[in-house]
Amino acid sequence: MTEKLYSDDSYLLEFESTVEKVQKIEGGYEIILRSSAFYPESGGQPCDMGLLDGQQVISVHENETDEVVHRLEEWNAPVGDAVKGLVDRERRLDNMRKHTGQHILSGAFVRSAGVETVSAHLGEFESTIELSVADLDERALIDAEDMANEAVMKNLPVTISYYDRNQLDALAIRKIPDLEGKYRIIQIGDFDCTACGGTHCHRTGEVGTIKITGKEKLRGHLRVTFLTGRQALMDYRGKHDITAAVSARLTCHFSDLDKSIDKLMDQNAALRKEIGALNKKLLPYEVEQLGRAAESIGGIKIIFGNHNDKHPKDVKELAAAAAEAFKSICLFTAGDRLLISASKGVTPDASRLAALFMGKFGGKGGGSAVFAQVGGLPSEKTGEMLDSFVEIVRSELGG
Ligand SMILES: [Zn+2]
Repeated sequence: MTEKLYSDDSYLLEFESTVEKVQKIEGGYEIILRSSAFYPESGGQPCDMGLLDGQQVISVHENETDEVVHRLEEWNAPVGDAVKGLVDRERRLDNMRKHTGQHILSGAFVRSAGVETVSAHLGEFESTIELSVADLDERALIDAEDMANEAVMKNLPVTISYYDRNQLDALAIRKIPDLEGKYRIIQIGDFDCTACGGTHCHRTGEVGTIKITGKEKLRGHLRVTFLTGRQALMDYRGKHDITAAVSARLTCHFSDLDKSIDKLMDQNAALRKEIGALNKKLLPYEVEQLGRAAESIGGIKIIFGNHNDKHPKDVKELAAAAAEAFKSICLFTAGDRLLISASKGVTPDASRLAALFMGKFGGKGGGSAVFAQVGGLPSEKTGEMLDSFVEIVRSELGG
C-alpha cells in the first residue's frame, strides 16, 4: 500500500520517495513508489499530472491493493532509487477548487431544495453533479447558486478528520459510502459534511465563483453543470467579450440585446416578405427573358443558370413558371442544390434528370416528373457541375 501524501496535505506538490516496483507495459512503464503526492483518478476527480524523476507522468490510478500506480512513457530509475516528484500545480489547484466547489454546491442543493447529489464528475473545464430529482426550476437553481457563493464568500474552513463507522451517526453527514476502516470526513464550517477521499482547499474562499451553466434531465435525475474559480472567470471573460462585441455592433446596452435581436429578426422577416412580393412581380419579365435567350433542341428549350444569390424558394418558383410558360427543361443552382423543372410531357422528365445528375455527380434528392431537386452538393462546384450536366442533357435531347 502506497503512503498517500495528498490525503493529509493537498498543498504538497513536491516530494521525494523510493521506487518500489517498475513494470514495463506496452508504450511505457508503471511505477509504484513507497509514498506519493500524485492523486490517482477516483471519485469523479481526474488524476494529477506532473513529473516523476524528471519524466512526464501521463496517468495515475489506484490498483486493487491500494497502490498508487504512475504511468510514464520513459523511465530510468531502478527499484530502490530515490526519486523526486513534482505535481502540476495549476491542475491540482483547479481540481481542489472544483472538488471543494462541488461539495459546497451539493450542500447548497440539500439546504435550499432538499435534494441529494447521487454522483459527481469533475471535468477538464466544466464539472457536473447528478441530483436525486427529475427537474428543478430556474429559481431553485439560482437559490442554490446564491447559497453556494455565500458559503464561498464567508471563507469557511475546510477540515479533514477521521472517524469509525459507528461514530458517523453523531455527524450530520450528507453522504455515507460503504467503506472498510476509517472514514475520511470533509467538513466545510457548519455548512456541509461528507465522506470523501479527494483533494480540497483549506478555505472556501479559495474556490472563487461557483456558477451553474446548465441543466439536463437524464434517467429521472437532473444533471447540473457548473464552473468554479479559473474556469468560471474564463467563461465569464469569453461571454463578456462576445456580449460587448455584439452590443457595440448593435449600438445598445447588453441588457437590451435580446430586444435588439428581436427587432432585427422582425425587420428581416418583413424584408423577406417584401422581396418575395417584388420577386412575384418580376417573375413574368424574368421568365420571358430566360425563354428568349434559351437554345431550343427538338422544340424543347434548355434554360439554365446559377442563382446562388437567391433564396431557393424563389428559384423554385422561377423554374416552375418557366416550365409552365415554355416547353422546356430548367436547371438552376441555388447554394448547395440543383433545382430541375420540366414541362409536362417532356422527356427526360425532371425525376429522370435528377437521377442522371446524381449518377454522374452525387448528391441526394429526387422529385416528380415536373419538379425535382438534388441537395448536399459542394456549393463552390455547382456551377462547374451544371455546365457539364447541360452537355449531357443536350445529348439526351439529341442535340
Ligand atoms: Zn471531496
